[in-house]
Amino acid sequence: MENELVNVSQSSIAQALATDYFCIYYVNVQDNRFIEYSASPEYRKLGLPTMGDDFITFARTYFDEIIHPDDRERFLDCFVKEDIIQTLDHCSSFAMTFRMMFGDEPTYVYLKITRMIEEEARHVVIGISSVDEQIRARMAYEEAHQASITYSRVAQALAGDFFSTYVVDPATDHFVQYSSTKEYDELGIQQEGDDFFNVSRKNMERLIYEEDRDRFMGTFTKEKIMSILERDGSFTMKYRLMFGDTPVFVSMKATLLDDKDGRHLIIGTYNIDAQMKREQEYRERMAEARTSARNDFLANMSHDIRTPMNAIVGYTNIAKSHLDDRDAVTSALDRIGSSSHFLLSLINDILDISKIESGKMQLANGPCDLGEIFRRIEDITALQAKDKSLRITYQHDTVHHLKVIGDELRIEQVLINIISNAIKYTPEGKTVDLIAEEYPAKGNKNRYRFIIRDTGIGISEEYLPHLFESFTREEKTTVNRVQGTGLGLAITAKVVELMGGTISVKSAPGEGSEFTVELELESLEEDDTTEAGADIDVDLAGRRVLIVEDNAINAEIATMILAEHGLSVDQAKNGQIGVDRVQEMGAGYYDIVLMDIQMPVMNGYEATQAIRNLDGDYFKSLLIIAMSANAYDEDVQACLASGMNAHIAKPFNPDDLLRLLHTELEKAGR
Ligand code: ADP
Repeated sequence: MENELVNVSQSSIAQALATDYFCIYYVNVQDNRFIEYSASPEYRKLGLPTMGDDFITFARTYFDEIIHPDDRERFLDCFVKEDIIQTLDHCSSFAMTFRMMFGDEPTYVYLKITRMIEEEARHVVIGISSVDEQIRARMAYEEAHQASITYSRVAQALAGDFFSTYVVDPATDHFVQYSSTKEYDELGIQQEGDDFFNVSRKNMERLIYEEDRDRFMGTFTKEKIMSILERDGSFTMKYRLMFGDTPVFVSMKATLLDDKDGRHLIIGTYNIDAQMKREQEYRERMAEARTSARNDFLANMSHDIRTPMNAIVGYTNIAKSHLDDRDAVTSALDRIGSSSHFLLSLINDILDISKIESGKMQLANGPCDLGEIFRRIEDITALQAKDKSLRITYQHDTVHHLKVIGDELRIEQVLINIISNAIKYTPEGKTVDLIAEEYPAKGNKNRYRFIIRDTGIGISEEYLPHLFESFTREEKTTVNRVQGTGLGLAITAKVVELMGGTISVKSAPGEGSEFTVELELESLEEDDTTEAGADIDVDLAGRRVLIVEDNAINAEIATMILAEHGLSVDQAKNGQIGVDRVQEMGAGYYDIVLMDIQMPVMNGYEATQAIRNLDGDYFKSLLIIAMSANAYDEDVQACLASGMNAHIAKPFNPDDLLRLLHTELEKAGR
């Protein structure tokens, strides 16, 4: 057999199969014996037998091991002797492709069985060659082809969302419609042609909603669109198209596509009518909400201002008609006093809240003495608590860094608001505690925690989420006629937020409330600045004051207060008259000028500058104190910047005015 095989191989194998095979077997179909004719080195390494008695069993056993697991089943299914013989009866060869494992990498191979050209048809040649490169190349091609099929499907699906899509060649302006909806087709727009931009403009003349026409025509030119596309990559425009008599909001989007087919403009128009209508409704709802909030605000304000005003007007009349009854007059004046006080705090609150809401509230960032704040809070609240027979305690022993940088007035306002509420909403005989604690924080900062705890009426769970909203008050507090505006906590919370701090509250009806405010404040280097004592024995008798004020009542009030304390007072009706007066009376005459800010002819800032510009040291150092209703920190800063020495807010407390004059004179060494 061997000789015979060798002889045949010499003559025929080379004709039957080409070179470059992994292996070639020669098989006797009748008795199944086989011999390996050739094998490549990598095939050899697989260590398969080189001859045997049963090729089919050999192949099914050994090949099975070296075939890629995913191809094994198919191989075993096909590699059946009867089937192969049958195929070879009709065809000159039998072939199959599968992956063989040479090491870890699978290689696509082609197994081909070819009949020998011989009389008895007893032998076949079986060759296995690599087709890895060809198959992988084909797969890559198919994959790419598949991707382009997928893209076009995606494009079609997306185009379904558009009324129409066009592809335009910007070099020639030739255009083709890629997709359109039925309703768009009914508009009768050209589907293909040249001169895209002019054709579109002509169509739009006919189809666009009257009000949008000029805007569209002004923008939809090739020059403009191309320059926007070059810059931004895409261009969008919203307008209304007339579908019959109905205007429909559409959005047109143009994009530049640069790919292997060259540069194209893709233009699509889609329906945004529902979205635009929703937005419109939303805008209308917001505008309504704003109007109603403003109306509520005005209604609240007018009610809250009228209430104390009513008391002031009413008790003034009562006082007038009971001039002989000293007790009645005193009691009327007391009520006028407390209503005025309430009105003033209400006006301050309203101004604060409107400043906050317009984003214009500014906080001072200056030296701030927490010790002073505690002292003043104790003064004010101890009195309030005493009136109500409440027990009030203050603990701030752990606060060591009392001098900090911050807004002293606002910190005090926050704490006073919360403590006043605690007192207001706690029945007689119960307790209110103020606890202040200090913890170290990053850098030169400390964290201050203020806890205000009461054992009062508490706050219901339903109201708690609205606690910090403007003009809200819990039902029971209004029913119980506790005076208030519902602004205090709204301001408090905003001020704390502006300071970068936090405010929180725990409360249960009938058990009481606990408010916690936390602020991080930078410590100020302690220095030995001497603080003004609580009470100064103010002696200003004989000092000469010029009041520059256009409002006769205000000028009169100040004059009376000062005259009562022995000062001699002159008045000037506006800034210009004030400056003239100071100049006329000459150096050394006036000790103090009290300067209003808003005045006709010349305002307080200009008057101050004019005085400072007069010749002589006296005019440069003359004490000028702003006496103004512009009381915000930035107003104070503006006064100082214009050359004034200090500021007092109107309306003022007589003692505060006298104390300020005294302090300023002392500071100036006079
Ligand atoms: P008001 O001027 O009404 O006191 P606030 O904004 O200060 O306005 O407070 C809003 C509402 O919150 C109050 O009307 C009251 O119902 C409730 N409230 C505030 N603090 C307390 C408290 N300590 N105990 C119970 N209720 C409180």
